[in-house]
Amino acid sequence: MPTSRNTESAHVFAVRLMQHLVVPTFVLNAERRVIIWNKACERLTGVAAHEVIGTTNHWRAFYDEERFCLADLVALGRPESMDELYVTHTEPSDCSHGLRAENWCVMPQVKKRLYLAVDAGPIFDEDGNLLAVVETLRDQTEQKLAQMALQSLAVKDGLTGLANRRSFDEKLEAEWLHNQREGTSMAILLVDVDHFKLYNDTYGHQKGDACLKAVASALGEQVFRPSDLAARYGGEEFAVIMPNTALEGALHVAERIRDAVHALGMPHGASQTAECVTLSIGAAAFVPTEACRAEDLVAAADAALYRAKHQGRNRVVSTDRVEELAEA
Ligand code: GH3
Ligand code: MG
Ligand code: MG
Repeated sequence: MPTSRNTESAHVFAVRLMQHLVVPTFVLNAERRVIIWNKACERLTGVAAHEVIGTTNHWRAFYDEERFCLADLVALGRPESMDELYVTHTEPSDCSHGLRAENWCVMPQVKKRLYLAVDAGPIFDEDGNLLAVVETLRDQTEQKLAQMALQSLAVKDGLTGLANRRSFDEKLEAEWLHNQREGTSMAILLVDVDHFKLYNDTYGHQKGDACLKAVASALGEQVFRPSDLAARYGGEEFAVIMPNTALEGALHVAERIRDAVHALGMPHGASQTAECVTLSIGAAAFVPTEACRAEDLVAAADAALYRAKHQGRNRVVSTDRVEELAEA
């Protein structure tokens, strides 16, 4: 039988062990009051143990608005609340095995946003009553930022920051199927810088790159519907996907883009079209059917672009019929 002195020293040892663990950890009792807030947790949050011990204010270390932490959800048996409170989490099973989640935290004391991976596990007595919940935290900010940068590289064009060709292809296919199901029209624009080879020849490749960035930025500013996508299609060509849009709406956007780039007034002395950089735009819109494919919409816009070039450039030409492809 352990003596009470032994039990006491075991308790002191356990608390000290917890306090000096290198993993940021805090412990709530069954009433959700903080009973342990270790040194690593103080360092991570900038909140001293004496400020939170005995209170239910632990949320203040992580967020600037009152909300539950993961340990609270375990103590309350509310795993279903993870959906609204965490960016990602493991499938909520039952709280008796603990919960795992990840979140961006505001960290009001240290004043920096951190991405924390959180585990919260319950401790029960012999009769199955909840004694405490232990929450451990891991700072995953660097890994998360690196992952986000990689994801961004995978979907964005390096020069202009617009969506890249791969994103364009994926979005086109997805919206094609969606608009086909809904029976709604979708539109795309193909946008090409006029006489851009001459621009490079006159001003050099670096100025050419800067010009493409400026064009992309002006174009992107005119594409503000969240469902639309502006992409670099390749070289000096850009594309805009507009789901749920008829030709009239697409022409509106196309004219806005053409105007916006014209208004930049970027000198292009060698252009045979105007004294500044201009765009030709091919617009196409139709309701997707079983008889045609997403590529047909792109081909129709390309045919319209071809006509815009031949009619003198610096203009928008459109089609809303698949058959026009054959004529081009
Ligand atoms: P058009 O009016 O018929 O479109 O004539 P264009 O000269 O614009 O067309 P062409 O296809 O002959 O030339 C496109 C030029 O765009 C050639 C290529 O070197 C240039 N280009 C493509 N990508 C880039 C890029 O990333 N940076 C720069 N600076 N130039 C690029
Ligand atoms: Mg081109
Ligand atoms: Mg061109």
